[in-house]
Amino acid sequence: MARVALEQLTKIYPGGVKAVDAVSLDVAHGEFVVLVGPSGCGKSTTLRMVAGLEEISGGTLTIGDRVCNEVPARDRDIAMVFQSYALYPHLTVEKNLSFGLERRRAHRSSLRRMVDGDYRAKARAEETEIREKIGTAAATLGIEQLLQRKPGELSGGQRQRVAVGRALVREPEVFLFDEPLSNLDAKLRVEMRAEIKDLHRATGATMMYVTHDQEEAMTLGDRLVVMSDGVVQQCAPPAEVYARPANRFVASFVGTPTMNFLEGRVEAGTFRSAAGVLEVGERFPAGAIVLGVRPDRVRIAQEAAGLSGNVRITEHLGDRTDVRVDLAEDVAWTVRVPESNAEAGDVVGLQVDPSDLLAFHAETGARIEPM
Ligand code: ADP
Repeated sequence: MARVALEQLTKIYPGGVKAVDAVSLDVAHGEFVVLVGPSGCGKSTTLRMVAGLEEISGGTLTIGDRVCNEVPARDRDIAMVFQSYALYPHLTVEKNLSFGLERRRAHRSSLRRMVDGDYRAKARAEETEIREKIGTAAATLGIEQLLQRKPGELSGGQRQRVAVGRALVREPEVFLFDEPLSNLDAKLRVEMRAEIKDLHRATGATMMYVTHDQEEAMTLGDRLVVMSDGVVQQCAPPAEVYARPANRFVASFVGTPTMNFLEGRVEAGTFRSAAGVLEVGERFPAGAIVLGVRPDRVRIAQEAAGLSGNVRITEHLGDRTDVRVDLAEDVAWTVRVPESNAEAGDVVGLQVDPSDLLAFHAETGARIEPM
C-alpha cells in the first residue's frame, strides 16, 4: 500500500530559513493530493523531502509502512516529474524512457552473471519487457511517433509527455509532480491537466502534485493542501476549500476573481462599514469582523442602498462582465454579472444574500462559522 504520511515534517535550510514548518499530512493509497500556495511557501521543499532529494530536518516521513527519512531516493519506489522536464538532450525519446530501466537491469544482470549460467536468456526477456513497457507508456501518452527524436526536436508539451512517460515506465507506487505544466501555454496546460487526471485514473497510483496555480489545484486534486510560509493553512477537498475556507488567506488565494472583503462591525444584526450597512441577521457574533463574498454572489442595484460605491471600470468579457467598484478608501470589489450597463463614475448599490456572506476574525483572519 503506497500511503504517504508526513508527520511534523520540517526543513530548515543551512543559513536558517525554515522553509517547511511541521507539516503533517496523510496521503491515502491512490489519492491525488495537490500542494498549492504562492511562490516560496515551501511546497517544492515538502515534495523534495518526500522524493529524497532534500534532507529532512525534523519530523517523520513514512511511505507504505516504512519510515523513509534516511532511505535514498532510488529506494523509495517513487517517480518525480519536474517543471524543467530534466530529459537527457543527447538521447532519443526512446532512450530517455528506457534509461532508468536499463540501468536497473544492467545492475541486476552484472550481479547475476556471477551466479547464474542462464543470465543471457533472462537478460533478453528483460529487454523485451522494457520494450513493452515503453510501448505501453508511449501509447498511453500518444508519443509513439516521437520515439526516435531527441528532446530538442520536440515542443514543450511533447517534452512534458516524455517526462511523464519516463515516470510511468518505472511503474512506481507514488508519483510526485513539481509544477509540471508551468512551462506550457495556457491552452496546452488545460489539455495536459486532463491527461494527468486520466493517468491517475488509469494507474490508480498515489499522486502528490505541486502547483502555485489554484485553478490547476482545484481541478486536479481529490484534496488540496493550501500552504503559506511553510505552514499548512487548510487541507480539504477543493469544494470544501472554496465554500468553507479556513481563513482569510485561503479565501483570497482560491477563486478568481479573488474574494471581496470589507471590514466593519456587527451590532444587533446589522453590519456597519465605511461603505454602508448590510443586514446579516443572527448569523455572526457582535463585534469587529471582516466580511467576505465571492464576486459572482454580488448583485448591482441602480440606486445606492445598503452598501454602495463608485464604478471604476466595467470589463465586458463576452460571456460575463466584471464591474470594479470602489467602496471606500483602499476597498475595491469585483462584481461578476452576466451583463451590466454600469459605467465608470456611476454610483451603485451592492446587494448580497446573507447566506452568501463569509465572516473572518478581524485580527486572526480565521473564518467564523455562521450561527
Ligand atoms: P515553493 O515551492 O512554494 O515556491 P520552496 O519550497 O521552493 O517554495 O521554497 C521555500 C522557501 O525556502 C523559500 O523561502 C526559498 O527561498 C527557500 N529555499 C528553497 N530552496 C532553498 C535552498 N536550497 N537554500 C536555502 N533556502 C531555500
